[in-house]
Amino acid sequence: MKLDHLGIAVKNLDEAVRFYKDVLGLELIEREEVPEERVRIAIFKVGDVFIELLEGTSEDSAISRFVSKRGEGIHHLAIRVDDVEEVSKRLRERGVPLVYDVPKLVAGGKRKINFIHPKATHGVLLEILERCGE
Ligand code: ZN
Repeated sequence: MKLDHLGIAVKNLDEAVRFYKDVLGLELIEREEVPEERVRIAIFKVGDVFIELLEGTSEDSAISRFVSKRGEGIHHLAIRVDDVEEVSKRLRERGVPLVYDVPKLVAGGKRKINFIHPKATHGVLLEILERCGE
């Protein structure tokens, strides 16, 4: 296992990108819109780890709700695993609450993810992710 990325919820993606890219000088890897999650994201590379900025595109998106309740800031940590199905199964057997019953394919099939509920992780939403065919 290794740390893959930090997810940061922001109000305005363009403004946030301006800071991380132009002021801080981080390398912008990709920007994409994920309509099914109602978010727009920008991904930066920092050494072996990524920073994922997320902006909600509608008021009922989980990111928008997070920002209006708690303000901008760290939304989740993501740990990369070899087999997200196997890890999900093992956690579920131990009674750990997961967000998806079946891990979800995202990014056009490039990533398979699940989330561990913050009540199990002592307060942090924890994404477990498998990078498929990379
Ligand atoms: Zn993430």
